Amino acid sequence: MNLKIIILLTSLAYQFVSLPIYGQNFRWQQAVDYTIKVSLNVDNHQFEGHEKLIYTNNSPDTLYRVFYHLYFNAFQPGSMMDVRSRNIEYPDSRVMDRISKLKLDEIGYLTPISLKQGKSALEYTIEGTILAVRLTKPILPHTSTELNMKFKGQVPVQIRRSGRDNKEGIDYSMAQWYPKISEYDAQGWHPEPYIAREFYGVWGDFDVSITIAANYVVAASGILQNPNKVMVKHSQSGAKIQDHKKDITYHFIAKNVHDFMWAADPDYVHKTIQVPGGPKMHFFYVEDEKTRETWPQLIAICPKMVAYMNKQFGQYAYSDFFVIQGGDGGMEYPMSTLIVGRGTQAGLISVTMHEMFHSWYQGALATNESLYPWMDEGFTTYAQTLTKAYLNNTKTKLNRSYQRYLALANSGKQEPLTTHADHYNTNTAYGTGAYSMGSLVPYQLAYIMGTDTFHKAFRDYYYTWRFHHPTPTDFERIMEKNAYMVLDWFFLDWIGTTKHLDYAISEVSENNGNVLINLINKNQRPMPVEVMVTYTNGNKERFYMPLRMMRGSKKFNDDILTTQLPDWPWTNPLNTISLNHKLSDISKIELDPDHGTMDIDYSNNVWINPRTAHE
Ligand SMILES: [Zn+2]
Repeated sequence: MNLKIIILLTSLAYQFVSLPIYGQNFRWQQAVDYTIKVSLNVDNHQFEGHEKLIYTNNSPDTLYRVFYHLYFNAFQPGSMMDVRSRNIEYPDSRVMDRISKLKLDEIGYLTPISLKQGKSALEYTIEGTILAVRLTKPILPHTSTELNMKFKGQVPVQIRRSGRDNKEGIDYSMAQWYPKISEYDAQGWHPEPYIAREFYGVWGDFDVSITIAANYVVAASGILQNPNKVMVKHSQSGAKIQDHKKDITYHFIAKNVHDFMWAADPDYVHKTIQVPGGPKMHFFYVEDEKTRETWPQLIAICPKMVAYMNKQFGQYAYSDFFVIQGGDGGMEYPMSTLIVGRGTQAGLISVTMHEMFHSWYQGALATNESLYPWMDEGFTTYAQTLTKAYLNNTKTKLNRSYQRYLALANSGKQEPLTTHADHYNTNTAYGTGAYSMGSLVPYQLAYIMGTDTFHKAFRDYYYTWRFHHPTPTDFERIMEKNAYMVLDWFFLDWIGTTKHLDYAISEVSENNGNVLINLINKNQRPMPVEVMVTYTNGNKERFYMPLRMMRGSKKFNDDILTTQLPDWPWTNPLNTISLNHKLSDISKIELDPDHGTMDIDYSNNVWINPRTAHE
């Protein structure tokens, strides 16, 4: 075990005493330690900087080359992002052909001036948004190397996420702005070109110094180290703003994160609120007629909102969280978000909630989002829906996700969720797949396992796998352990295929004093079956048939009389439930009454007794 791991484990153990990190047989993962100094010229929007990167190779492999992301190069006419946006069906309305029209002083770029490993200069090639570097000294397993890069860049006019002068007038949204080393994991290198979406990075510590004109307030995804020097703008006391004559340098540190974002505007105000039990929430926004009304209410609701998020989904992993006006829409970064700030009150709360939940599924768990966007956007959407229902005191429904899934399924454009985020043929198939179908993963698991069991498992997943880049199989196994079930069949069909589910009540009849309910599995996806019978006296009875291949069954903890019937093997299209009742005793029979299965046709799931219907 090398020193770097010991330090990492020690700092993790220090921060998260309850984190069960020992005894887990985790995969190896790489580690980074960035020290970045950057200086931005606010007259021409160009910057120059120096990046020292200590890169630790914890893999069993010798690395002969490394890759960096140069994301800003996407904002140039003819880039992969530009061409893809002009060719894809239903392009993102924020991008369209805007990149193709950028002038030289409006484009973005990021380019090395020099790059050294130790004392020797390195050869490299710039391939669009990727920098490919040949090392002079291979990095042996379990060793570190120091890479020093001088770089320069230009902040593009705001197109997507990053850029200058967004539509709300925020001067600088600086996401994906520095040379960021690609992740190397059990699947090898991930030098993903920046085409549209999703990020993946190496965990480590960032020490970032940003020099900028003195009238700017800088907000970032890290803890400010020199508040007294860059004051007074960071004070929320309303004290008079110091009129610096020269540039000032903001110094931030972010520990155990996989990315670093910052934003700057002369007019930012900074407010904070402490959530009991953590974190401290920071808000940076520009006050105007609209935001003066909406942001204070957002701030006021955060303690209640975040306390619920902590309790239901596991404790937020850092001491601070930064909500910063900037970018477009909302985008998540470790311990922070960039959001547009002039929307409606409900929209502002909703986007903050959504982006903050990414601190769980993208910030702390950080699956490879390009490969498994459903594990980030989907889980985030699910958690957001539950939290919204909690705040509004309504019942949780994922109707919108289901309706979107249904529309996609019927459109013929559905693609399996194993599709790479940038490779979907349409933005709709990606959006509905990652967000809606992704949110229906936890929703269906709650149906299969039982809601309480699922949420315990969901928290177990978070606490067990945070800071370890879980994959779908890690998620599946932890679900299986908690549910005491085998769940391959669910993941294989819902994630890996475009198969649909359609169970139906085909016939209800009376025979020899018994009621026979004939069920049919009309389509390809199997699920455990729940049938609710409502008797004419108002009583209800549930009949439950697990799938044989589940090797387990769900426990119900409501008051409804439940009868468990033999398992239904998926190869059998037909099944019959026999009730020791007369037909006239029954008013209604419903298959999957809670809509937990994502049945594509619920119209054939209900039988209403014609003789009792009008009574
Ligand atoms: Zn999201």
